[in-house]
Amino acid sequence: MENNKKIVIAIDGFSSCGKSTFAKAIAARLGYIFIDTGAMYRAVTLYALEQGAIRDGEVDAEAVVTLLPEINISFSFNAERGASDIYVNGELAEGRIRTIEVSNCVSKVSSIREVREKLVAMQQQMGQKRGVVMDGRDIGTVVFPDAELKIFMTADAQVRAERRYAELTAKGDKVTMEEILENVISRDKADMERAISPLRQAEDAVVLDNSYMSVDEQMAWFMERYEEIVKC
Ligand code: C5P
Repeated sequence: MENNKKIVIAIDGFSSCGKSTFAKAIAARLGYIFIDTGAMYRAVTLYALEQGAIRDGEVDAEAVVTLLPEINISFSFNAERGASDIYVNGELAEGRIRTIEVSNCVSKVSSIREVREKLVAMQQQMGQKRGVVMDGRDIGTVVFPDAELKIFMTADAQVRAERRYAELTAKGDKVTMEEILENVISRDKADMERAISPLRQAEDAVVLDNSYMSVDEQMAWFMERYEEIVKC
């Protein structure tokens, strides 16, 4: 019999370990809404770059906070991608938020208290009715500490950098393996060491190391845990 109990699935973990791919596949399988919270921090970073609140990689936190009230983030489902595209003030931003320029500044922007307060409130609102798969860094610890299923994802840094490199070069971005690896390592460090909502494994999270797992293997691993929870 179909189980209709809707839960919150929180997926946290390191940069570029396939959280979004995994979360998107789960959402499609369960008919849940997938929310990529990293895209929201990237969207604020993109806007700050465009408005001059970040110059030569230097983030002016005060200027970013001043811009916050005028940043309107929304999502619209894109059937082709099987996920929602992000819009900033009504303009499609999906492609523009994934550049190395944004990746290099996003950890600094995400460590600003006011930025986190605004985005966390939005995320809690989006998951209010449950039936969501949300991926990020603080979902199981701060956004939904009461999530019924918390997964902490990790993978070898070299494997993660290779995945991100393949993804960016396939889009035609001119990047080197060295800069990608450096970005992955420095973002993880900044995310773990920041004062507000640092990246850490929630005590009740289950760890998934997907360094050498296919998407099908990850899905089988997930379904076992999911079924245990919803049958209760
Ligand atoms: O998931 P993604 O790598 O796109 O996230 C980009 C950045 O956004 C992370 O490196 C982190 O600094 C920030 N982030 C965060 N909290 C979240 C999601 C992302 O601080 N819930």
